[in-house]
Amino acid sequence: MRVAMIGSGYVGLVSGACFSEFGTEVVCVDKDAGKIERLKQGEIPIFEPGLEDLVAKNAEAGRLSFTTSLSEAVKGADVVFIAVGTPSRRGDGHADLTFVFQAAREIGEAMEGYTVVVTKSTVPVGTGRQVEKILKEVAPGKKFDVVSNPEFLREGSAIDDFMRPDRVVIGSSSKRAADVMAQLYRPLYLIEKPILHTSLETAELTKYAANAFLSMKITFINEVADLCEQVGANVHDVAKGIGLDGRIGRKFLHAGPGYGGSCFPKDTLALVKTAQDYGSPIRLVEATVEVNDERKKQMAARIIEACGGSVEGKTIAVLGLTFKPNTDDMREAPSLEILPALQKAGASVRAYDPEGMDEAESLLPGVTFCKDAYEALEGADALTIITEWNAFRNLDLKRVKSLLKEPVFVDLRNIYEPAAMREAGFRYSSIGRP
Ligand code: NAD
Repeated sequence: MRVAMIGSGYVGLVSGACFSEFGTEVVCVDKDAGKIERLKQGEIPIFEPGLEDLVAKNAEAGRLSFTTSLSEAVKGADVVFIAVGTPSRRGDGHADLTFVFQAAREIGEAMEGYTVVVTKSTVPVGTGRQVEKILKEVAPGKKFDVVSNPEFLREGSAIDDFMRPDRVVIGSSSKRAADVMAQLYRPLYLIEKPILHTSLETAELTKYAANAFLSMKITFINEVADLCEQVGANVHDVAKGIGLDGRIGRKFLHAGPGYGGSCFPKDTLALVKTAQDYGSPIRLVEATVEVNDERKKQMAARIIEACGGSVEGKTIAVLGLTFKPNTDDMREAPSLEILPALQKAGASVRAYDPEGMDEAESLLPGVTFCKDAYEALEGADALTIITEWNAFRNLDLKRVKSLLKEPVFVDLRNIYEPAAMREAGFRYSSIGRP
């Protein structure tokens, strides 16, 4: 079996490498020639734990290769995945499907024998049918089926998520295509991972429903955290108290500065738009989007408040810029709201992130990027942690205190204990804890 993966970003590259690890021959395609050149040299353009070794191993075994030529990769492929970006469309928040449709057209022109064309990108309900229509127009008479196989991997643990997923969703109305997909995912059948066969539309909606639900869960606990602060309760204990209920579950109940990243913000918005278009609004998700947007904006005010009401002329040390740990992805990261707001209020910002600084540099003008956490603290009036990288979980608190002009410590991820921090002499604030 041969696979062509169109788009070699976070999803395409991880999926391609993992399919090749399963023994399938995979060609990863990207129109970004620089990215492909780096991949050919064995360099990984993104930070994802374990990916470099996996790519190197399978490239060396001859099962994984890279090209900018979509047509070369598609010719002779049994399965072609579309794993290109689907960002928010400027102005209206719908998913921008330009890259998907362009890829579909190019695939149609290049495909030869019977081909299964799979959308792995997150795409609104109805997109698979539109891809089908494009292929029929571009490639009349050619044999193909369109499948929706949304991806649920998380950046930072992407390889494990792909190799041992909670489930695989395969949406198709063709028995022949479903059989090809079953063969491709055979290693996961063998380890008894649930494989759900659904219609195209159901698969497409399942992905958005999953992301919207997780976003809602995060936003729920964030609002509960705000209430905890007013009534003197502890959100950590509330989360545990509700999360131990099997119907609720403990995951995604960590209060923080609001969700960001390359998926939740754009996918919740796109679902809101789709639902409105179909006259069936999902108001819970509408509220989630609104509350989360506001929350990210409120975080700078919290830091300013912790600094005594003004940061004019002050220096703030910031640890963590990426939207979560173990990735270099800066898309929609809370830091992109918080840092400019601090600067606007008159603060200078010194920041450190273990993997995100290359990406952050062009997105955060005027910020001083430092080589480690302690350098960021030099001459700072206050410290804030925005992303909970492991490296920040056990800082040398004596050293932190001696470097800060004022012992102000704002922990937006609740990784330190309030009582211990008070004892260590900090004016410590966190989210939803007394
Ligand atoms: P990305 O921006 O990292 O990668 C997309 C790649 O596609 C880019 O390298 C781009 O150059 C390439 N591309 C675009 N058009 C092309 C074309 N016609 N031919 C060849 N290459 C082309 O995006 P991503 O984060 O990998 O996301 C891809 C899709 O997967 C999105 O729909 C996203 O919502 C979804 N998804 C992402 C994640 C995640 O954690 N990043 C998880 C699940 C699903």
